[in-house]
Amino acid sequence: MASQEDVFKKLIAHCKEYGFVFPSSEIYDGLSAVYDYGQNGVELKNNIKKYWWDSMVLLHENVVGIDAAIFMHPTTWKASGHVDAFNDPLIDNKDSKKRYRADVLIEDLMAKYDDKINKEIEKAAKKFGDAFDATLFAETNPRIQENKAKKEEIHTRFAKALNDGDLNELKQIIVDYDVVCPISGTKNWTDVRQFNLMFSTEMGSTADGAMKIYLRPETAQGIFVNYLNVQKTGRMKIPFGIAQIGKAFRNEIVARQFIFRMREFEQMEMQFFVRPGEEMKWFEHWKQFRLRWHKALGLGDHKYRFHDHDKLAHYANAATDIEFELPFGFKEIEGIHSRTDFDLGSHEKYSGKNIKYFDPELNQSYTPYVVETSIGLDRTFLSIMATAYCEETLEGNDTRVVLKLPPALAPIKVCIMPLVKKDGLPEKAREIMDNLKFEFKCSYDEKDSIGKRYRRQDAIGTPFCITIDHQTLEDNCVTIRHRDSMQQERVAIDSLETIVGKAVSMKKMLQSIVQD
Ligand code: ATP
Repeated sequence: MASQEDVFKKLIAHCKEYGFVFPSSEIYDGLSAVYDYGQNGVELKNNIKKYWWDSMVLLHENVVGIDAAIFMHPTTWKASGHVDAFNDPLIDNKDSKKRYRADVLIEDLMAKYDDKINKEIEKAAKKFGDAFDATLFAETNPRIQENKAKKEEIHTRFAKALNDGDLNELKQIIVDYDVVCPISGTKNWTDVRQFNLMFSTEMGSTADGAMKIYLRPETAQGIFVNYLNVQKTGRMKIPFGIAQIGKAFRNEIVARQFIFRMREFEQMEMQFFVRPGEEMKWFEHWKQFRLRWHKALGLGDHKYRFHDHDKLAHYANAATDIEFELPFGFKEIEGIHSRTDFDLGSHEKYSGKNIKYFDPELNQSYTPYVVETSIGLDRTFLSIMATAYCEETLEGNDTRVVLKLPPALAPIKVCIMPLVKKDGLPEKAREIMDNLKFEFKCSYDEKDSIGKRYRRQDAIGTPFCITIDHQTLEDNCVTIRHRDSMQQERVAIDSLETIVGKAVSMKKMLQSIVQD
């Protein structure tokens, strides 16, 4: 069986070959951790955006959207804490000259103990069969207890070091537990240093008048500085939310794993403004709502888990991640944070403006508390592609690569294919396409055998192929072929809109979030 690493490499190659994701400026050998989305990638991305946007803005009458500029007044980032505190602790291996995030090395170390424990349980489960009680085994097996204790010990030291901002202790953990560089295999480490992740540039034409500004590292601040504009002009009443989709930039120290960690990426964020004291209730509410949103994609409920933060960001009083099982392990794709009144309070202080909300029900003014949901569009894209990618062996030892994308998100919904390039079949095919194209993204393909054409569509996840043959001209029926089952059926042209419409409906997904 292919290793997960091989599968991931194949996925990256597939993304490139089929127009989903290209390395940025590839003719110049690319730019590290920057990627471009191709003709199919952009469609998938737009569909994910729509799914998210509609789940926020259509399903909640008290959530509205904005689109703020990427450039913001530099004081914004002073107030938000990013100038002083948006750092990653980095450490270099002196032999390989490779740079790592110290916190990531320690997290990987802890994950190794988890792996050991899981392997021990799996081994025992195989040995003991049906009668096996995993919980009892984990509680009593000395090796598991030992590994658990080790992990706990590291975890306690790690959480304390992060919260105290103790960089020496971070290094000490790496040294004490013999963490080696995966490249050089040595323990020859530098000290741990802080590294600010914001990109800066200059605005203005004269040297004197130029102002140092930052490329936003998160979209949230554009919402905070506008919250009162939206509240007043939209006559919003607390609790209410503001949603936004947009680019964010971070000078990541270790940029790897394809589009998982990029230097330019896209976020979908929603800030929900609540009465002080009610934030934990809303934090719980949005945690559950967001998990249902993910699960409605149908990628497999077991692939998600919550992970509570060991270290809370400078602005938060509660935080959890939604993690997804990617080919390289469970990784964060979304963060849900209770940001208190930190941001609004700080903007009030730095700007000197009163940005308090007047609550007509309480007849008092206060600085609202904020619960944020922040999901990475690119990471969501990756989670969907990684799960959808399948290599199948068919009858007669034939194989196919198929992207089992959620139909509502597929870049192309229908491919229209005349059986042959003559006898009036192309004209009939075009006629069908001209009708369907108002509802669905369609493509037209008349080249090569039907089998080859099917494979091309499988590889980009098109849920339906429609074949027009000679009989179509007589009975107005076509063959529709379903991507996943490869089943074919003969249906009337008139019924195509309904069949396709039902299968690719985003409404169904949205309803299942609400109904669950
Ligand atoms: P990480 O710990 O992986 O660096 P983070 O906790 O800093 O992520 P947040 O600040 O909570 O991330 O950002 C919210 C979301 O934005 C993340 O859950 C992720 O999906 C996305 N995101 C953050 N950084 C990147 C990046 N460099 N590339 C792609 N997506 C990112």
